[in-house]
Amino acid sequence: MKIVRFKAAGKTRYGVIDGTHIVEYSGTPYGTFKKARKRYALKQAVLLAPVVPSKIVAVGLNYRDHAEEMRMALPEEPRIFLKPLSALCGPDDPIIYPSQSNRVDYEGELALVVGKTIKRWPQQRWLEALAGVCCANDVTARDLQKKDKQFARSKSFDTFCPVGPAIVSGLDPSDLAIETRVNGAVRQSARTSDVVFSPAFLVAYVSRMMTLLPGDLILTGTPAGVGPLSAGDLVEVEIECIGVLRNRVASGARAEP
Ligand code: MG
Repeated sequence: MKIVRFKAAGKTRYGVIDGTHIVEYSGTPYGTFKKARKRYALKQAVLLAPVVPSKIVAVGLNYRDHAEEMRMALPEEPRIFLKPLSALCGPDDPIIYPSQSNRVDYEGELALVVGKTIKRWPQQRWLEALAGVCCANDVTARDLQKKDKQFARSKSFDTFCPVGPAIVSGLDPSDLAIETRVNGAVRQSARTSDVVFSPAFLVAYVSRMMTLLPGDLILTGTPAGVGPLSAGDLVEVEIECIGVLRNRVASGARAEP
């Protein structure tokens, strides 16, 4: 199932994609989720970020080739950081280029969507813990990341976490093609299996540290080929069997010093 959150007739709703339409569902994908009567043309609906998380957990340097291009050693344990909820945005929302940075990069990533409250979850039951998976872009102010030596500022500007277009349920995401394009040109192309720490490992690892709640996101890291964005660019993250997450870059206000 491809589950979307969308706005139609002034209300935010959940639905499931059925060809060119969205079938409305009542409830949430984390509990009772029931098919309702209404259908909306996909073209006329505004898709929102498909999740409302309590936290966005992200993993750095998880793809071997990306660690190589950053000239960093592979981590012995997952390198975990957090992105704030205010960074979240949805399909087709603009990524706002902040005036404090001169180098903003895309990072196409597979995101795991937690489906239930989990704490110390066993690795072998990882798929049961998920509502599904989606595409994400871990947008990063690379110059600030290098300057600050820690990630809070560089990863946290508003709109620095586009996710979508849908939560795809019932899919094992362990070996899918992942690609990032800027203005149609392929910049990242890999498989989700090229990682140091598998999604199964990450679900267990993160849930040993913090209780994960329904809708929480785990961004599983980016492959090689990260690079800069400019205002006006169209960036697309596509994952096999999931879909394409598309966002355009807009220049931010230049009011502050
Ligand atoms: Mg990343």
